[in-house]
Amino acid sequence: MAAVDKDLIRQLVEGTISRDNARRLIRMPRKDHERFFNYLEVLQERVAWPERILLRLTDHLYIVAKNRGGRVVKCDCGQEFGDYRANWKLSAKIRARRTRAEFEQVYSPAPACPEPDWQEIREFYCPGCQAQLAVEVVPPGYPLVMDMLPDLDRYYREFLRRPLPDEAAGWYEDRTHQTTRQWREAAPADR
Ligand SMILES: [Zn+2]
Repeated sequence: MAAVDKDLIRQLVEGTISRDNARRLIRMPRKDHERFFNYLEVLQERVAWPERILLRLTDHLYIVAKNRGGRVVKCDCGQEFGDYRANWKLSAKIRARRTRAEFEQVYSPAPACPEPDWQEIREFYCPGCQAQLAVEVVPPGYPLVMDMLPDLDRYYREFLRRPLPDEAAGWYEDRTHQTTRQWREAAPADR
């Protein structure tokens, strides 16, 4: 099979692809370069906003290039979560489950529940469309988990052979602490 056509990728994204075609894709010995860009085109057609999608992060979230510069995390509903180098979870609505009763609402059977005091369940929601974006189970007080910090410049330059126009040093660094530092500085002085 030659290059995978866009329609097949669209079926893959929408979950309507046939078992035979899915199997054919998996068994292809070599993945063609264009497939990623066809995939992005399919994703771009599914959203109502114009910013260019650079990478999909989750079912709902994308890293996009802002027209006036910058790369931000954006939900398919249009809600933005700021610079992608700061964990987007800081800009999400968070629900934390901490008690056994709260765990049992989402765990079945009950013996599978984590131990209260040792674990908490954090659910992250989009402030724009209320979609659930991620869930993490961590010890209480554990920092928000940064699920992915992609090296976009290297990916586009070395693997896709199409460097991004705003390539620069500094895109590949975790800046989450800068956001939390601003929060601390903005907090009342009595702390
Ligand atoms: Zn949303």
